[in-house]
Amino acid sequence: MKRVSVPAGRLEPRSDAYPIVPTRGALEMSLEDFRAEAALWIVENAPRSLYGTRSGRFDGYWGGKKQPPVSEDVARWLAACVERGWTAPDWPTELGGGGLSRQHTEIISEILTELKLPPPLVGFGLAMIGPTLLDFGNDAQRAAHIPPIVRGEVRWCQGYSEPGAGSDLASLATRAVRDGDDFVIDGQKVWTSHADKSDWIFALVRTNPDAKKQSGITFILIDMSTHGVSTRPIELISGSSPFCEVFFENVRVPAANVVGQVDHGWTVAKALLGYERSMIGAAMGGQLRDAEADLVARARRALDAPSGQLPSALTRDEIADLAMDEACFNVTVQRVIEGMKGGKKPGSESSILKVVGSALKQRRFDLAVKIAGPESQGWEGDAFAADDLSLTRDWLRSRGNTIEGGTSEVQLNIIAKHVLGLP
Ligand SMILES: Cc1cc2nc3c(=O)[nH]c(=O)nc-3n(C[C@H](O)[C@H](O)[C@H](O)COP(=O)(O)OP(=O)(O)OC[C@H]3O[C@@H](n4cnc5c(N)ncnc54)[C@H](O)[C@@H]3O)c2cc1C
Repeated sequence: MKRVSVPAGRLEPRSDAYPIVPTRGALEMSLEDFRAEAALWIVENAPRSLYGTRSGRFDGYWGGKKQPPVSEDVARWLAACVERGWTAPDWPTELGGGGLSRQHTEIISEILTELKLPPPLVGFGLAMIGPTLLDFGNDAQRAAHIPPIVRGEVRWCQGYSEPGAGSDLASLATRAVRDGDDFVIDGQKVWTSHADKSDWIFALVRTNPDAKKQSGITFILIDMSTHGVSTRPIELISGSSPFCEVFFENVRVPAANVVGQVDHGWTVAKALLGYERSMIGAAMGGQLRDAEADLVARARRALDAPSGQLPSALTRDEIADLAMDEACFNVTVQRVIEGMKGGKKPGSESSILKVVGSALKQRRFDLAVKIAGPESQGWEGDAFAADDLSLTRDWLRSRGNTIEGGTSEVQLNIIAKHVLGLP
């Protein structure tokens, strides 16, 4: 990856209207020229307060009507990128994207990572339902839903899991019965991340209870403000809870909101899971980039060794061991991204990224907790540094990484069957 050279004196955001370097022509110029132009535009337009604020690939503003940007600078950065089509650089321009290729998108992402700048917008709209609608939605659905996603106006959540259907997702029981131009939906979803902050939910519902499990499932888009939809937060061990239960009671949803065909939603659902697992795996890669430096700094504090070699050979060995595995993983993520530049969609291989990335992240937090010792056991109050308090919660949160998007055991089954072709 080429380093971004930030021109001296260019870090101040410009106060005039966003200077638009025309995206038209970007596809004709060399990738290196594009990298230089993109870096310049980003440096000129990203508010200075946001530099260095990003620690993971998935940090950023999640959009939606219920949660406005946390600062004017976040709003300003979003507006600049929306105008340029760079919240979704490789989506079609007529839908609000940048009309660029995967290569261009990855170059933009590399520049943001290098400058530790948050992307202007993140979330399930951009990462999951947007790509799925581009693949499986009809023209009306794309026109209705993609532009609000790109502009950060609508936040989406994922209504897959149910109390009796997690790993065995095809057992889901939420019913949708056709009534005129609508479906009437009754049932319950669980572990729905950020449902209470979301405007729309993409959900799997059972439309044919008599068909074989996977065959009677339909993929449908539901406005969370529809009468009969309610959410209830779930408390977690980490203290902060992104989870909700979502209840559907006699909810009327237009049949036009079905993505793909009625009873054939399983294909759409699986494609979306490919996007989800790639996102989770790649996000681990982004977060792991600075992991080594973070662990060394933590060890220096814990071992009272501000410079020179760390005095504990065991700690040195454990950090080096992890750093090597993380470096290998990051190269693999890069290779997968390279492979997707030709337009290839994430397939069952996304399960490999998910299994390895989430396990590495847990290893990193386990090691950080071990190094920090008692300092990592704080929960709240002034007795612990803010950094140590967030370590406790991040460590607990990382337990969920091997569960969300399908557990590691289930991913290993997918890899065995669909990647390795084992009987
Ligand atoms: C952080 C986080 C965020 C989430 N966000 C969402 C969300 O936004 N929307 C949503 O719909 N869901 C979400 N989920 C739910 C998640 O998809 C489910 O938790 C997951 O699919 C596992 O289902 P389950 O919890 O019912 O566990 P179960 O399926 O009951 O599994 C229990 C245990 O049995 C094992 N097991 C089950 N089947 C097999 C098998 N065939 N072979 C070997 N082992 C097996 C599992 O690996 C697991 O260890 C989230 C979960 C987490 C942790």
